[in-house]
Amino acid sequence: MIEVDEIDVSYGNIQVLWDLSFTVSEDDRVVSIVGPNGAGKSTLLRVMSGLHPVDDGRVTAWGDDVAGLEPSDIVKRGFVHVSEERNLFGDMSVRENLEMGAYTQRGSLDETMQEVFELFPILEERQDQRAASMSGGQQQMLAIGRGLMARPKILALDEPSEGLAPKITNRVFEKIEEISDNVTVLLVEQHVHKALGLADRAYLLENGEIITEDTGPSLLESDHIKEAYL
Ligand code: ATP
Repeated sequence: MIEVDEIDVSYGNIQVLWDLSFTVSEDDRVVSIVGPNGAGKSTLLRVMSGLHPVDDGRVTAWGDDVAGLEPSDIVKRGFVHVSEERNLFGDMSVRENLEMGAYTQRGSLDETMQEVFELFPILEERQDQRAASMSGGQQQMLAIGRGLMARPKILALDEPSEGLAPKITNRVFEKIEEISDNVTVLLVEQHVHKALGLADRAYLLENGEIITEDTGPSLLESDHIKEAYL
């Protein structure tokens, strides 16, 4: 379980998150955080991953303050964050990228890779191909697959539909739904309709503050979401 408790976060002297609190636990299926460009969604994930400090408040991962943990310790505890940039190793093969995802994992790498291949057969077919030569949708699947190689309890996905054609976006969301059968997904998206449709709990983040919290379907029906996002 990750608990975010009243955090303030800034870049230099510009504050971007304000008194923000929420939790995500293994009992959740999909938790979505939606909001416009620049609202602070990626920053929140970076803080949860131990990549950016808080000014005030705290974030705990399974009871431990992330301020005292290395990012790899947070991964080991079960929180994995697939960033918006995907950060694939373009010159390495698909298989090598997946192996890199398992660097913190002690279980059987082959078994986990087999599970990832079952979810994304295209990655098995293309396992010897250079990552950079894959299409945008395939690279997104590889980034998600690499995240799963660490065997997370909570998998955070930052804008998984970024830059993808609508048809491919639908495919990615189908996969996310499938993943959520086994792993809690924390979904950060500008693609409000899809992200709320999947979410059993959702937060609307605007200007660094949580404006509303509700079930995904209820938030989808709210006037504010309809007027501003749909
Ligand atoms: P997007 O979907 O565009 O990534 P977001 O909701 O994820 O938006 P963030 O990327 O977290 O938002 O950005 C929140 C605010 O912090 C924005 O005003 C942004 O300009 C600023 N910001 C983000 N990264 C940095 C940085 N490295 N240095 C300074 N300011 C930053």
